[in-house]
Amino acid sequence: MTDVPYLPAPEEHIRREKQKARVLRQSQWWKNKCGHGRCHYCGRAVPPRELTMDHVVPVGRGGHTVKGNVVPCCKECNTQKQHLLPLEWDSYLRHLEAESRPAPPLSAGDRSSSDPEAGPPSPSSPQPAGR
Ligand SMILES: [Zn+2]
Repeated sequence: MTDVPYLPAPEEHIRREKQKARVLRQSQWWKNKCGHGRCHYCGRAVPPRELTMDHVVPVGRGGHTVKGNVVPCCKECNTQKQHLLPLEWDSYLRHLEAESRPAPPLSAGDRSSSDPEAGPPSPSSPQPAGR
């Protein structure tokens, strides 16, 4: 048997971080975050109840349960993220971004004129592409 190219996080780490996630999920901070009712990744409006806690860097890859590493996301994105490789997930995000901005106005740098539609807010900051 050959080794996998990356070292999976030790089980103890996973258990500890999942426990922390359970606690964080009860926190006011998290409730506030879900209160916005928006998926961090696709930017869709989602009822707060249906938002799930997602680790940007998965716990299984050494990610920690800290405020900077957990985001609310919809079930669909959560499922996608779990099934896709990091690289595929990356292109999924880019695909979403392109979809949410179908036709960027060509007026270069003119930000004073407000958007006539002022519709669904686009995800302001997708996750950093690092790992
Ligand atoms: Zn989503």
